[in-house]
Amino acid sequence: MISKPVPICGTHKVPKKWSTTTFEYSHEGILIRVPNVYAWVCPEDGEASFTPETVDELSETVRELHETAKRVKKCRDVPTEYIVSVA
Ligand SMILES: [Zn+2]
Repeated sequence: MISKPVPICGTHKVPKKWSTTTFEYSHEGILIRVPNVYAWVCPEDGEASFTPETVDELSETVRELHETAKRVKKCRDVPTEYIVSVA
């Protein structure tokens, strides 16, 4: 892995940590969560900044899941949660 400068949290002025977090995407009452995704995480409040590479990788999966969820939602008028685990 290429070493990158460690980003500083704009709110807490502390260096962020490269660790796993949960990527969340919420749209039209559908929540998609992808656990164990690497991101820069603020040690103070756990706020994560995902790298553009990670967002690129996840956006396709999330878009597909969202389409599937929309079809499911037509039959059930409740918010639906999807959890995707990336090994
Ligand atoms: Zn912070």
